[in-house]
Amino acid sequence: MTKQNVLVQKPRAGPDRYICSISNKKVLKEEVDVNGAGEIIGSWVDRLRASSPTHIKSSTPSSLTNMVHLPSAMKMFNQIMDESKGKQIVMFLDYDGTLSPIVDDPDRAFISHKMRTTVKKLARCFPTAIVSGRCMDKVYSFVKLAEIYYAGSHGMDIREPAKGTKYKKGSHAGILFQPASEYLPMIDKVYNELVEKTKLTPGAKIENNKFCASVHFRSVDEKKWTELAHQVKSVLKNYPELRVTQGRKVLEIRPPINWDKGKALEFLLESLGFANCNDVFPIYMGDDRTDEDAFKVLRERGQGIGILVSKYPKETSASYSLQEPSEVMDFLQRLVHWKRVPYVGQTPM
Ligand SMILES: [Mg+2]
Repeated sequence: MTKQNVLVQKPRAGPDRYICSISNKKVLKEEVDVNGAGEIIGSWVDRLRASSPTHIKSSTPSSLTNMVHLPSAMKMFNQIMDESKGKQIVMFLDYDGTLSPIVDDPDRAFISHKMRTTVKKLARCFPTAIVSGRCMDKVYSFVKLAEIYYAGSHGMDIREPAKGTKYKKGSHAGILFQPASEYLPMIDKVYNELVEKTKLTPGAKIENNKFCASVHFRSVDEKKWTELAHQVKSVLKNYPELRVTQGRKVLEIRPPINWDKGKALEFLLESLGFANCNDVFPIYMGDDRTDEDAFKVLRERGQGIGILVSKYPKETSASYSLQEPSEVMDFLQRLVHWKRVPYVGQTPM
């Protein structure tokens, strides 16, 4: 965590140990300027189209020039485990598209019973966190596991396990960190205005993720995407300080703080006592552009690995890939098995 990140670390522990100062000059690469010119609408729509796997699949070879073909994390399993030798593995898992399949209705993105059982077993072996763009309560309502960490709203709502684990004893579940709490009323207002503004666009879905509002394009006819983007912009023109980022067929409206899944990962590592440790091996799995912030943090720290969940090549800072949630489950099950029955000569922590 550096001062360039606009975060100043105070020496004592506790939920308020980070002070956030706001700087609109510090923006994420994929942030969209809502005060920009008219072409911004086209830019939103182009980015949303590009985020669709069917569009990636139909891309011409030249458009794949910057795309990365990553080695399979399953095929490289033994090598990854060799890399982690003598280090504490810490698991970070995105939810949508990683633990659950992407579905048209975001309210029905259920995790399978088998995946839940797998994550439960995983949490017995390693400190485990779910890091999602969704609000913490929604993710918890799907996952229903009290023994893991949750970082909802892109890490803007971080909670520790409700159940004591061997990594965090006791039953003092609670908020670890909410860096954007002052923006809650504003996000709520924007959410209500977006619902009203988009109510006549068939398939448009606005999700209140507490610290951010999500506009889902997935069930909207592509011919109507520009119209929907105009509706979003007309609401946001009254909130010039808010930021807009783009995910898989979704626009996300966020508070203007320099906080993302990468910062959440660093915060959780610190909370677990691994701030300045060399003997930690974080594994982060995610499928979306917003997960790239976490992949970049791991690359910069030179610790652990990022695993992109995608069937198609993408521009990414991850090191390995898995094709889809079912393969994520296979990988996690193998990891649990490895922890319980390590290969000869290996000593998992
Ligand atoms: Mg995802």
